[in-house]
Amino acid sequence: QEDDGIRWDKAACRYCGTGCSVLIGTKGGKVVASQGDPDAPVNRGLNCIKGYFLPKILYGKDRLTQPLLRKSNGKYDKNGDFEPVSWDEAFDVMAAHWKPALKKSLEENAGKPADQLTSRVGMFGSGQWTVWEGYAASKLMKAGFRSNHLDPNARHCMASAVGAFIRAFGIDEPMGCYDDLEHADVFVLWGANMAEMHPILWSRLTDTRLTRPGCEVHVLSTYEHRCFELADNGMVFTPQTDLAIGNYIANYIIQNKAYDQAFLDKHVNFTKTPTDIGYGLRPEHALEKAAKNAGKGKLSKISFEEYAKSVEPYTVEHASELSGVPKDQLLRLAKAYADPSKKVTSFWTMGMNQHTRGVWMNGLVYNIHLLMGKISEPGNSPFSLTGQPSACGTAREVGTFCHRLPADLVVAKPEHRAFSEKVWQLPEGTLNGKVGYHAVLMHRMLKDSKLNTFWVMCNNNMQAAANLNEESLPGWRNPDTFVTVSDPYPTVSATAADLILPTAMWIEKEGAYGNAERRTQFWRQQTSAPGDSRSDLWQLMEFAKRFKMEEVWPAELLDKAPDYKGKTLYEVLYENGQVNRFSKQQVTDDRGNKYDNDEMEHFGYYPQKGLFEEYRLFNSAPDIIKKGHEMAPFEAYHKARGLRWPVIDGKETLWRFREGYDPHVAKGDGVKFYGKPDGKANIITAPYEPAAESPDKEYDLWLSTGRVLEHWHSGSMTRRVPELHRAVPDAVIFMHPNDARKRRLRDGAKVKVVSRRGEIITRVETRGRNRPPEGLVFVPWFDASRLINKVTLDATDPLSKETDYKKCAVKVVRA
Ligand code: SF4
Repeated sequence: QEDDGIRWDKAACRYCGTGCSVLIGTKGGKVVASQGDPDAPVNRGLNCIKGYFLPKILYGKDRLTQPLLRKSNGKYDKNGDFEPVSWDEAFDVMAAHWKPALKKSLEENAGKPADQLTSRVGMFGSGQWTVWEGYAASKLMKAGFRSNHLDPNARHCMASAVGAFIRAFGIDEPMGCYDDLEHADVFVLWGANMAEMHPILWSRLTDTRLTRPGCEVHVLSTYEHRCFELADNGMVFTPQTDLAIGNYIANYIIQNKAYDQAFLDKHVNFTKTPTDIGYGLRPEHALEKAAKNAGKGKLSKISFEEYAKSVEPYTVEHASELSGVPKDQLLRLAKAYADPSKKVTSFWTMGMNQHTRGVWMNGLVYNIHLLMGKISEPGNSPFSLTGQPSACGTAREVGTFCHRLPADLVVAKPEHRAFSEKVWQLPEGTLNGKVGYHAVLMHRMLKDSKLNTFWVMCNNNMQAAANLNEESLPGWRNPDTFVTVSDPYPTVSATAADLILPTAMWIEKEGAYGNAERRTQFWRQQTSAPGDSRSDLWQLMEFAKRFKMEEVWPAELLDKAPDYKGKTLYEVLYENGQVNRFSKQQVTDDRGNKYDNDEMEHFGYYPQKGLFEEYRLFNSAPDIIKKGHEMAPFEAYHKARGLRWPVIDGKETLWRFREGYDPHVAKGDGVKFYGKPDGKANIITAPYEPAAESPDKEYDLWLSTGRVLEHWHSGSMTRRVPELHRAVPDAVIFMHPNDARKRRLRDGAKVKVVSRRGEIITRVETRGRNRPPEGLVFVPWFDASRLINKVTLDATDPLSKETDYKKCAVKVVRA
């Protein structure tokens, strides 16, 4: 719509998983204004402080505009300095490293069956990719290079949530939606600082708390943060003891016979978890050696009585003793869950996911909701929030995890591979059935020279990786490896790479994100990228043009697809009938904007639409995938302010698994967890287990890391917004005044934070927004000049392989 020559168009916010919408005003191809979108159901015109300054992320002074390659004497040199090169030279040098790695992989795989293939090429993506970029990357790596070494930074973020969804319900992503914020009587936050990480959802929650009679807010955390200001029951617990609290609540419900017997009889199975307690560290690590390794295997069915016995030890006394939370506060929390008249919504994010028992912890909250039957209806929701704008839409839904294919298909199941091969028009046996390296393992394999080429897109993986000095940096700088980073800015990751590719970001390309409530949102390209920057989609497709099929597939596989002989990978993956079905066309949105993708980045056809429509085929394979992921056609999303899947006959689904809300639940069924063959969800045992590393005499404090309101993720965008940078210029260490006094430290004192793995220098803050208890310190990780991940431990959940960034042992000394 034209207004003073300004054209306004909608876009999803570039930052968090809340998925707010903004209106962007452009004039003469430049962004001149922005505002919260009043028509957006998520944020209703509001944005948080990051959202208000959003367009400024495009205009940082150090924006990259040309590919940069490390060179000396005019040639690539791993130890050289970055020099500008053309796209042709960049891709030539990159391909010159990928080809020998692929050749070696082909040799190593000779004669091996499809479920035992290895590969020496890897890629790391993110939940910040647009849906079609993630899908195109998944296709390139898994179908083209036959490598499952593709993982998103969602591994560090949502993998535990995914694991728990699949274990409990057999299908990923929340059953509820943000409307729960207006329906619940009780909110419980488990390891979620929504006031800073999901501020718009927090404002909706606050509104309900202040206007709904009897509404209560319970907050559980290892330190006090801004949510405690609204809390009716704020509880600070000793790290890792949330496991005991979750079990106590289940025990309370059972002891008081508050559970919904009819619901349990009809809709729930009780199962026992194996208790493998390895921490995912290198085998030679002392902590890993100390870990027991018993009981590996599958879930086994147990009776209700056996489940009740498993939670019996978790009395209020035991839970209080372990957690440090007073008994009356634990009791108040348990009663809120157990009161049949109260609707309860539980929210959680990284405090629960970044946990050596993140999958168990997620599962414990499902157990509580399932025991009470408080699930899949307005206000009754166990709700896992996401950190990234498309953690759901891209990282999870299009198969960018090393074990997944699009939708909920997995590489390990032959029937899933066979179906994917059909959609992708690949000969039988193309897809690799061996699970690839996950995020932490990729860096270790680079260090060990088992992975030789690595392409990082759309995230700051070096800054985000735990124990980065010992594991990540040595891998990237290993002479046997060639690392490419696609980034709009010279981040910690980009400057550690061998080749940097300048990237178009956000509204400089057409895009789609899927937020935490299953809402898929589209936006149009609204401005051009600076210099030679190009979108990740363009980069993926252009790179694919460098490979002949003979260089990536063995002869016997190509014999099964003679039409592909002599073709490029690009032609097979992106230019054949599946993707190249749509020509450029004009789209008109609900505001009357005419959008002609000829004006913007274009490919001669419309691969964004082709890729999305191909992806939709994965969502309609009822025999293989559990139903329930259906997407609307491409155009529908350009018109709507997002739609929550499953979308059937143009209608979105607000609550899944319940008759009347979910079209997949037949009349008379009431509730059906159709992700599981018998339609029943799993309640799974999950005992308390100590952390991988705890404070001791020398390293006497717990360290937790996280974010602050003003900075998103690694700060690579928000630190380039002057208003946000000025507001919070650096990462401080939040510390209890008594801990500071004991070390004779004043507020603002310069200190070293030291762990067994590394150290950083920062300054002490004892009066800030985060108020840790004695014995725990908190350091945000957004600050590239104070890399707290030099200090953190790369211990992972044995099930989800997600890193526990919330717990390790440190000491703090005067610098
Ligand atoms: Fe909304 Fe998150 Fe963007 Fe803030 S950062 S405007 S809460 S999507």
